[in-house]
Amino acid sequence: MSTEPSSATVPAPIRTLDDLRVDGKRVFVRVDFNVPLGDGSDGARQITDDTRIQAALPTLRRLLDEGAALILAAHLGRPKGVDPELSLAPVATRLGELLGEDVLLAPEVVGGRSTSLAEGLKPGVAGSRILMLENVRYEAGETKNDPDLAKAFAGLSDGVFVNDAFGAAHRAHASTAGVAEQVEQKAAGLLLQGEVETLEGILANPGRPLVAIVGGAKVTDKIGVIDAFLDRADTILIGGAMAFPFFKAQGHDVGSSLCEEAGVEPAARALRDAEAKGCRLLLPVDLTVGREFSADTEVEHVDGVDTPDGWMGLDVGPKTAAAYRDEILSAGSVFWNGPMGAFELAPFAPGTRAVAEAVAETKATTVVGGGDSAAALQQFGLGDQVTHLSTGGGASLELIEGKTLPGVEVLRAG
Ligand code: ADP
Ligand code: MG
Repeated sequence: MSTEPSSATVPAPIRTLDDLRVDGKRVFVRVDFNVPLGDGSDGARQITDDTRIQAALPTLRRLLDEGAALILAAHLGRPKGVDPELSLAPVATRLGELLGEDVLLAPEVVGGRSTSLAEGLKPGVAGSRILMLENVRYEAGETKNDPDLAKAFAGLSDGVFVNDAFGAAHRAHASTAGVAEQVEQKAAGLLLQGEVETLEGILANPGRPLVAIVGGAKVTDKIGVIDAFLDRADTILIGGAMAFPFFKAQGHDVGSSLCEEAGVEPAARALRDAEAKGCRLLLPVDLTVGREFSADTEVEHVDGVDTPDGWMGLDVGPKTAAAYRDEILSAGSVFWNGPMGAFELAPFAPGTRAVAEAVAETKATTVVGGGDSAAALQQFGLGDQVTHLSTGGGASLELIEGKTLPGVEVLRAG
């Protein structure tokens, strides 16, 4: 048996669409259509942001161009059994508009009409070649990675599986992992392939200096990401409420700031590791504070990092923002996850805005991963000014942390 650590073994490459023969075949495609829904004027559920649907179009168009018919599987929300509120009907309609042809919707996930609808698909015939299954989480077997459900998914297709759902790739579910074992051909879609290659690329072979900006609410959510970059980055910039456990570890006052107690020890350890590994770990040098978590609260700037009694640190201060901006502008590559403050509240958005603008402006390769930082970037209208805006919040962080993603592993050659 080899005694090499597993990280020294280069994993087999993932199979891509180039490896598939799909002409005339029905292909089972897992997509991430977990879009936000709101109530429309007529009371029906409406999609409020179709970014995730748009992101799957290149893969879908490519498979259609190559002569395939598509059976699309996706989840929406977290239904416990069948829940009409979480039907994929609005998604099928929107996808049809974007593709310019009808998308059929199976009223079931498997069984019932899904079988006959799948059998009736006509590869190459517009209007009769795309079937969307109902919300896969209507089936209890989905999140249990039930082999019978996986077999049923594979059986709807002609033995071909494509996974383009990067946002769900960190879960071993029937439609993301199990189905891959039941087919003859399998591959990553273009979105999933791009996500994996970009995120692995910034870890394996980054332009230097590599600057990682890590912010957000809790150290314990992000310590895996911090650890990954302590080994690889030249500089780590810390911001957000996450800075306070670091300050507490250094003996500073945190006032009423959001300061996760369980984060203090990991923060102290990260500071020691940074020292030992020669990674520059930078903390804010000034703060913007408020009386409470509100947009109308009294606001003050603190030169220094002790939060006065009766105040909460809600953003990094202007000196910190300027310093972080300089680091980002002189970077060779940048990874950003987590806002610098409570950016949803206008008085506490400037720190996050400064980072977002610098990330948009720098010549470095820029990768933004994670829910709220991506939302912040979009809020400032800068979403299209980065090299890569990851569509998978949890999945991108797990990949950066070096965890294996079940939905990716099943696509590796061999
Ligand atoms: P991401 O989704 O990008 O990974 P997180 O979910 O970890 O980011 O953190 C985002 C949340 O952290 C935001 O809702 C923001 O309001 C909050 N936050 C950031 N800084 C502070 C702060 N200083 N005080 C209170 N909340 C903060
Ligand atoms: Mg978040």
